Amino acid sequence: MTETTPARVRYAPSPTGRFHIGGARTALYNYLLARQTGGQFIIRIEDTDRKRFVPGSEQEILESLNWLGLHWDEGPDLGGPHAPYRQSERVDLYRAHAEQLVELGLAYFCFCSPERLAAMRQDLERRKQPPHYDGLCRRLAPAEAAARRAAGESHVVRLKVPESGRTTAVDRLRGEIQVENTSLDDVILLKSDGLPVYHLAAMVDDRLMGITHVLRSSEWLPTFPLHVLIYQAFGWEQPVWVHLSVFLNPSGKGKMSKRDAVSGASSIYPLDLREQGYVPEAVVNWLALMGWSYDDRTEVFGLEDLVQRFSLDRLNPSPAAVNYSKLDHFNGIHIRSLPEAELARRLAPVFERHRISVTEADLVPLAPLIQERIRTLDEAVEMAGFMFGESVSPVAADLIGPGMTAAASAAAVRRAQRLIGERERLEPESLEAELRGLAEELGLKVGQLFTILRIAVTGQRVSPPLIETMVLLGREQVLERVARAGDLLEDAG
Ligand code: GLU
Repeated sequence: MTETTPARVRYAPSPTGRFHIGGARTALYNYLLARQTGGQFIIRIEDTDRKRFVPGSEQEILESLNWLGLHWDEGPDLGGPHAPYRQSERVDLYRAHAEQLVELGLAYFCFCSPERLAAMRQDLERRKQPPHYDGLCRRLAPAEAAARRAAGESHVVRLKVPESGRTTAVDRLRGEIQVENTSLDDVILLKSDGLPVYHLAAMVDDRLMGITHVLRSSEWLPTFPLHVLIYQAFGWEQPVWVHLSVFLNPSGKGKMSKRDAVSGASSIYPLDLREQGYVPEAVVNWLALMGWSYDDRTEVFGLEDLVQRFSLDRLNPSPAAVNYSKLDHFNGIHIRSLPEAELARRLAPVFERHRISVTEADLVPLAPLIQERIRTLDEAVEMAGFMFGESVSPVAADLIGPGMTAAASAAAVRRAQRLIGERERLEPESLEAELRGLAEELGLKVGQLFTILRIAVTGQRVSPPLIETMVLLGREQVLERVARAGDLLEDAG
């Protein structure tokens, strides 16, 4: 079954820390559903838990989503018909809704002190029972509760969960989830400081913002029936609920945690991946397949392909492993499919970050030489940074050709130097033919001569193709570097 009507979906992060790939995947699936159905993708910042608030977190979320290309239609920065899109600016709405439930007799004021609640919790713990409010204030006469509240007594608002029966919650991936209402707690909806908890704020906002599909993390499965009850209490029609799979750490053992982020070179934070030279196309492709598949074969997708092909039916509720070698694989593929000028455009800031001063225009001719060889943008710096330095500094020992002496290597380099010096400019075909001819004349394998020249010209054993590199560097630079290699080898020999 595909969704036919335009979906209004939201990504609703809490700005409580760094933005990680779990959040990015949730945002991606929401985005895909919105774009596919011609609906809207909304960003809502859930910032009512002031204790966990981390400054800068919202900016990181928005910057990451922009980098990934997941542009939204309404949000804290853009505004929209349901502004504001930050929950801390919508508190009156939540209070009014809590009030409404109290009036309907479906929620109540609770005056229990933190000490009483703590004692109750300890007692339950001792008896190995789950935390559960005992309902003391639920039994207060409404008039008494109203009077105590009017007198300014500190209180919270709790949901009045039915004392019998069952609640059926329907998840689009997992089917019906049934719970006995007696197993559910009278959760707090509004705290004593007047701020709402997630259970109230998110439901109210989803309803008021016209959200049709809630795609969110499966950490909300345990409280999902409560959310269904809250919708029911207000008499609202349920949205389509979708709880996404959890991520397993790369070893496949256990749920991924923030600790997995620091072990190993790869990061779980999109902005770090950007710093490490991953392209957003690859990250999107990789994330899309962690919990969704198109068929059993196709694995390379651009964002537009995903918009066409995404479907809720192919979401997989089972845990998804985070596999960084897969990310490297996709990164190589997506780098190779960038137009050369675009690759140059993306490489410019990477070289700049490595303090190599080079313009985008300088990088355009380099792009085709390295495009097939790099798996991350940063590898371009390792591979081709020598192009933009004043000089390279190989050591004599490295300049000696395989199976050769220093003297023979020096002689070969001098001959190459002469050959290059005799040309006005370097052309790839003729240069290659002549250097091959030189190797033959000297009784060397082409690989022997080219190894010496590669180290002489690039200072490294791995480089873009030698001849093209020499052409790009230009006659003067090449001559200088080859002459220097000759000097070093002669000194050594
Ligand atoms: N603010 C919640 C979180 O970051 C959002 C959950 C949801 O999508 O409803 O976990």
